[in-house]
Amino acid sequence: MSKRQSWRLVRRPDGEISDDDLSFAQEDIPPLADGDILVDVDYISVDATNRIWMSDADQYMPPVKIGDIMRAGVAGKVIASRHPNFTAGMTVGGLGGYASHIVASGDLFGSLPDVPGLALPTLFGSLGGTALTAYFGLLKIGEPKPGETLVVSAAAGAVGSMVGQIGRIKGCRVIGIAGGTEKCRYVVEELGFDGCADYKAGDLGAQLDALCPDGIDINFENVGGDIMDTVMQRMTNFSRMPLCGMISMYDHLTEIQGPKAWSKILMNRIRVQGFIVSDYMAEFETASADLVSWALAGKLKTREDVRPGLDNALHILRDLYRGGNNGKLLIKV
Ligand code: NDP
Repeated sequence: MSKRQSWRLVRRPDGEISDDDLSFAQEDIPPLADGDILVDVDYISVDATNRIWMSDADQYMPPVKIGDIMRAGVAGKVIASRHPNFTAGMTVGGLGGYASHIVASGDLFGSLPDVPGLALPTLFGSLGGTALTAYFGLLKIGEPKPGETLVVSAAAGAVGSMVGQIGRIKGCRVIGIAGGTEKCRYVVEELGFDGCADYKAGDLGAQLDALCPDGIDINFENVGGDIMDTVMQRMTNFSRMPLCGMISMYDHLTEIQGPKAWSKILMNRIRVQGFIVSDYMAEFETASADLVSWALAGKLKTREDVRPGLDNALHILRDLYRGGNNGKLLIKV
């Protein structure tokens, strides 16, 4: 086999990603250089940060170059290797792209263990990078204590669902914010959150006042904008805010306005800290062991939204920014 299918970035989106921003084509698989592996991609992780990588706004890693394969986390099987750590047949996960086959440095990949009871989409998807994000953001920056009130936005999503459940494991009272009655039902009835505010139902502030009568000790922020401002107005003295993401603003990154709650940050001594999951790479192994053991013990419920078809990738990716996903969004190649 010498051909692959891939999506390449042909121009930087202006606002929402449009069909003409990326191109889908069949092409030759390039030869491997020393240190490279060839991965037959099984799953692509569809992540909010993809929109950031498409832009040339200031960001935490270089933007995808025009003409390059669109970057993404992938999982699959090694079919050829010129890297000492990998042999053909190994299941791996790492930083690849929207393509059926990836040739990349093996340094960007790690082997995925076979864990009985956890299928690859769960291990790589729900318990992968987004779960690690939830774990480190909440435990290192949120510093949860039993009895505290934790609010998490995009609560039914990949990161948010893990934040809330880890918060419960640590003894917090957990309130989610999600769009729609079904997502709110899911986080309360199936994930065990203590409550959920539906921001699409109107007056989010009044809903939060009712759900968090003693205020909010930790705001795990995933969406930014008006939702973030509404939550911040209700944060307690010495509360913490892991700033994980601002998905509502990724189509207009260069136009982001600051929070309206500056005086609240001062008066209530709120600690706001942005973070990127890779900041904690040295501790990934320990964190993954915790996440896997919680999942196997039934303390962490997982849900993947697996969509077939690499050719349908743009439609699937756009759904993430419209709340169309139910759980960790993956493409099955
Ligand atoms: P999710 O599975 O949570 O899907 C995204 C969800 O965001 C949607 O389902 C939708 O939920 C909500 N959403 C989308 N657009 C809006 C909007 N305009 N206003 C309000 N809510 C919106 O995605 P992820 O778990 O992958 O990502 C969640 C956040 O975590 C993102 O901000 C992402 O950038 C961030 N992240 C940060 C990392 C880091 O290292 N700092 C690493 C990984 C992710 P609903 O239907 O409820 O509105």
